[in-house]
Amino acid sequence: MAKSGKAAPAAEGRAVVRKAKPAPTRTGLVRQARRIYRELAEVYPYAHPELDFENPYQLLIATVLSAQTTDLRVNQTTPALFARYPTPEDLAAASPEEVEELIRPTGFFRAKTKSIMGLSQALRDDFGGEVPGNLKDLVKLPGVGRKTAFVVLGNAFGVPGITVDTHFARLVRRWKWTEQTDPDRIEQEVGSLFPKKDWTMLSHYVIFHGRRICHARKPACGACPIAPLCPAYGEGETDPDKAEKLLKYEKGGMPGQRLKPPPDYPGRPAPPLGAA
Ligand code: SF4
Repeated sequence: MAKSGKAAPAAEGRAVVRKAKPAPTRTGLVRQARRIYRELAEVYPYAHPELDFENPYQLLIATVLSAQTTDLRVNQTTPALFARYPTPEDLAAASPEEVEELIRPTGFFRAKTKSIMGLSQALRDDFGGEVPGNLKDLVKLPGVGRKTAFVVLGNAFGVPGITVDTHFARLVRRWKWTEQTDPDRIEQEVGSLFPKKDWTMLSHYVIFHGRRICHARKPACGACPIAPLCPAYGEGETDPDKAEKLLKYEKGGMPGQRLKPPPDYPGRPAPPLGAA
């Protein structure tokens, strides 16, 4: 089939020109975005942050460690770290060499040791050992940007926020919610399509979908529940059987990323580090 707006050869040798679909109006875009949100909420009613944590300090450290690695690898690494250093004060006063060894599996372990010890020292010295529950103070902590701050605010403090990671940025562009590539601009444009109260769950739904079905290289379009709503349908595998094989985590019958997933998670927990 010819792509929209391109000439396709007709049977008699004449060219048939397909008109490009007009861009949706603002109202149309908001409607489409919210329909996708509702559909994703049905597909992933159990969506949640995929880092294991028990308090804001643990979530902050785990989020910093998750740079350039998977949540699974962080979840397999943090139990030993938090058992050894249960508070910011403990981590602030740690031996860097010992911390490096504990977090080595997450990669970039020297730089990450500096970051998590530096921010623990700032928590100890400037915030009485508590993680602040507001954006202004969180982004003052060394190594904490808006993305990390929103993860912590949304999931440890119940403050709505949008997390623009690689999955989120890819999917919202596929859905034509924005053409921006800068995370702050994506956050603004996508945020304007939804009520603020939905921002945190929106982030979880979209990231869940990106990790399980709408992959970067091979989206599983033929097994995608939101295919009828998606302007990018056909960018990936459309054959249902082949698409089914591309599904990941609980959708593909595999373990999830959390060692301690919430009770409503329908998949299997992730194995500890080193387990088969
Ligand atoms: S139809 Fe394809 S491109 Fe669209 S959301 Fe589903 S997997 Fe992604």
